[in-house]
Order: sequence, then structure tokens, then C-alpha cells
Amino acid sequence: MKTLSEASRALELGKVSSVELTEGCLDAIKQKDAELGAYLEVDAQGALKSAQESDARRQGGQSLGPLDGVPIGIKDIIFCKGLESTAASKILEGYKAPYDAMVIQKLKAAGAVILGKTNQDEFAMGASGEHSAYKVTRNPHDLNRTPGGSSSGSAVAVAAGMGYGSLGTDTGGSVRQPAALTGIVGIKPTYGRVSRYGVIAFASSLDQIGAFGSSVEDAALMLQGIAGYDPRDSTSVDRPVPDYRAALKGDVRGKRIGVPKEFFSEGLEPEVKASVQEAIGLLEKQGVEVKEVSLPHASTAIATYYIICTAEASSNLARFDGIRYGPRKGDQEGLNALYEKTRGELFGDEVQRRILLGTYILSAGYYDAYYVRAQKVRALIAKDFSEVFKEVDAIVGPTTPTTAYKIGENIQDPLAEYLGDIYTAPVNLAGLPGISVPGKPTKKGLPVGVQFIAKPFEESLLLNLGYALEGALKDG
Ligand code: GLN
Repeated sequence: MKTLSEASRALELGKVSSVELTEGCLDAIKQKDAELGAYLEVDAQGALKSAQESDARRQGGQSLGPLDGVPIGIKDIIFCKGLESTAASKILEGYKAPYDAMVIQKLKAAGAVILGKTNQDEFAMGASGEHSAYKVTRNPHDLNRTPGGSSSGSAVAVAAGMGYGSLGTDTGGSVRQPAALTGIVGIKPTYGRVSRYGVIAFASSLDQIGAFGSSVEDAALMLQGIAGYDPRDSTSVDRPVPDYRAALKGDVRGKRIGVPKEFFSEGLEPEVKASVQEAIGLLEKQGVEVKEVSLPHASTAIATYYIICTAEASSNLARFDGIRYGPRKGDQEGLNALYEKTRGELFGDEVQRRILLGTYILSAGYYDAYYVRAQKVRALIAKDFSEVFKEVDAIVGPTTPTTAYKIGENIQDPLAEYLGDIYTAPVNLAGLPGISVPGKPTKKGLPVGVQFIAKPFEESLLLNLGYALEGALKDG
């Protein structure tokens, strides 16, 4: 059984037990994860206990729904009570989550089995998985390549059969990008659709939890499990949650889709371009109306994103001071030494780079020139999208400009890594939902992601478009 939906149906029909599915995933982790590095912590005992409880419920005719008994992985940055939550940083080494994030409360209430915590770039800063303080995650399609990031482990867990679904976070692309590079589906919901209560904050005006699955239906089921209002997250929106699986009709006739010309310019790898164009052609055959549109401020998105996210990160990460959480360094030498040594030794290079940049951007004299200005450009980027959505129902384009790059290739060149966010970060800046669905892989067999973007709270439309594309590719 490859997909979550298949596993879920088999559970329903009594063809398999949750304990069997869970043992299967735990075996896969044992066999493959030393090489792949997707998990930071595996909770075999806890998972098997939840699986047994799920099986007992089903036998008693008390199933909690499609996720009941399904084994999944959770990005380390999301709190699961009693399990370590380090955000893959040394500064939180040994820190155990004191409570469940809202999304975990919801998934547990739906009966999902939590296999463990997945690897990521430290504090979700990065796009390759190489910035974990613990280990590198490898792409199952080519072990010399990165799987993308920052939700590297969550993507690889699903892509390599070490979990039927998983959760990640997406601040500038961290769900859609690794989904694209590992050949699976990743959805980033509208800002406010999913509660972030219990998630370690990176850039609060951009962060959103998203879900991975091996198929669009899987992503729909995972999203169903986590979406909804939560008064404990003040950015959460009180709005009914539709039935996402019911939206998967596959009929997309008459839908108008915009192709932004700025998403097909310089820097886009020819094979990625060809795959996305082929996908658009397939959608046209299914009756979608395609037209070219323009997002004139798209070229400013990377600069804008990196000003806003570093500013917010410098503020959010101020709480890691060696006093309140995690290990402490230099405490014999006075308070300043304690701060300096703890933060200097226990934050990784990329995190320190962002804190320094963000602190500079927010400092007196530069605040207006950088931060305030970036907020203005952000408004223009959002306006570009709302203008386009007057003419079309959704936007389609590549998720990433290239296929997965080699491990180590960009580690000395942060800007090259940042450029990988060029098609995903604008979506976060505008607070919109986006999904990455596999297109046709390259000749070498490297996955390519096709991204759909829609108006706020139109996740159902995204899922249906993705479903139509998935179907068309299967039919050949
Ligand atoms: N690659 C982007 C960054 O490094 C996105 C990260 C994310 O979405 N968490 O900021």
C-alpha cells in the first residue's frame, strides 16, 4: 500500500490493522533511515500503543474517521507532548515539548498514529535540509542530492514509505519545495486556515503549517485533519472547513487559469519548464482555459521575503537565551557571556546569519529604509495577485526553478539557495494557499513540481486542479 488513502480504505475494510501499517513504517525506517536521515526521533513504543488503541476502536465499531490508525511523521518544529522538539537546533537539544500543538491535538483526536519527529533545516531556515544541526537528509531519488527543505524529513518520510502522510511548515516554500523535489504532493494552506499554536515561530506573518501526501487525495485528508479555527492563535480565521476530499471531482472544465509570464523567465531549468508546460497542456485538454497573466512585482519577492523573514526571526529567536530553554554555555562568566556563548555556539551558521541581518534591518536608522519599505512592496505583491484573480480562478507555474541540487552545491552560497524560493515565497507574502503536485519527471528521473495558487480559502479548488493533473498524468 503506497498511499494514505489506500491505507485508510484497507483499514476501513478490515484488510489491514493499524499495528501492521505502523510496524511496516517502523521497519522501513529501520532499513532506510540511517541513509536518508528523515527522522530525528522515532517513537516506536508510543506509535504502537496508539496503533493498538486504534485497532481496538475499529473492532468495537468506533472508528474516528479516515485518519484513524494511519501512521504519520511530524516536523520537529511542531510540539508533540513528551517528544523532543528541537527545531533541529543544538540550542534546544534535549528540550521536550510540554504540550501538544493544536494540529497534534486534532490529529490525535482523529486517531492518527505519530511515528516521530522529522528532520528539518534549523528553525525552518533553509531550502535543502543541510542546515539541520544533527544530520543531513537525502533525496530518495538520488542520495547525492538534497530533498529540498526546510521540511526535508517530512517530505522524505512520505516519499520513501516511512510514513503515509506528514506535517511541515511553510514560511517561504518549505512544504511545496521539498514536495516538488521529492515527487510528492505538498499543500500550504491560506494564512489563518490552520492554527500555529504549539509551533516554534520563525517569521510569524508568513508561517503556516502544511501537509504532505503521496497523492492529492492524501494531502486533502491530511489538511482535513488539521484545518480549523483556534482562539489560541490570534491569526487563525473563524470560517467553516469544507469537505476537501469531496472537492476532488476531477472536473475542471471552464476553470480559468493564469500562467504568470514572470514565472517562466531566466533561471528556470529547461526540463522543469518543459514538464510544467506539458502539465498545462494536459489541463487544457481537460477543458481548462489558460491565459498568460503578469505579476509585475514578482522579481522583488526574494528581497522582500528575506527582509521580512529575517526581521521577524531576529525577534522571535530572542527568546533562546540560555536561560529559559535548552542547554546553557558560559554561565560561570556573567550574563553577557552566557548570552553570547549560548547563542554563538548553539545556533548554526544560517540561523546566526538571519539573526544578524534581521537585527540590522530592525535597527534605528535602517528600519524605515528596509523593513517599512519591504512591507510596502509586500502590499504591491499581494495586489498583483488580487488583480490577476479578477481575471482567473487560479494560477499555475513551476514550484521551483530547478530540480534537486547536489548536497554541498550551494552551502557556501546562501543567495543561490535563497533564489530557489522565487516562485513559492510570493505566495506566503500574499497569504495565499498553494499546492505542489508532481509533473512529469526529467529524463534523469528527477521529480518536478507543478504549483497551483488560488485566492484565500480556495484550497478545494487547488486540490481539485491537482487531482485533475494527477489523473491526466496517470492516463498518460
Ligand atoms: N527557504 C526559505 C527560507 O529559507 C523558506 C523556509 C520556510 O518556508 N520555512 O526562509
